[in-house]
Amino acid sequence: MEALTELDIISMLKDSGLRVTPQRIAVLSFMDTHRVHSTADEIYLSLKQEFPSLSAATVYNTLRAFMDAGIVKELRNGDHASRFDINTAIHHHFVCDRCGNMTDVELPEIPVERVAREHHFEVLDYHVEIRGICSACNSETMMH
Ligand code: ZN
Ligand code: MN
Repeated sequence: MEALTELDIISMLKDSGLRVTPQRIAVLSFMDTHRVHSTADEIYLSLKQEFPSLSAATVYNTLRAFMDAGIVKELRNGDHASRFDINTAIHHHFVCDRCGNMTDVELPEIPVERVAREHHFEVLDYHVEIRGICSACNSETMMH
């Protein structure tokens, strides 16, 4: 996927009725360049150098505003901190039980809508989580 330009990000914010601020641009641009499903703390720690006035609370509020506007998705992650995804299309994840990392995984289309219709169930959202141990954690185990 091609990286978003600053102009793309500005129109993303405007189209969603969000105020355009340098911090908001920085958060979205960080999430777009580092498609690693960062936690709010990770985003805060990597941006606080550039924005000394930025607080962890601002990052949380910013992410909350993005979620309300539908441009960012929260990925709840059990006992680990939530991670945030700039890709709001339906897609699936490998989740490492050891380090909490989440990576995108492609799966064939799942007939969720059809099954839901049969059960008169209104689907709001779904994604498949494949839990396990990531390759980084696995090779660490082998070294010990
Ligand atoms: Zn891991
Ligand atoms: Mn993802």
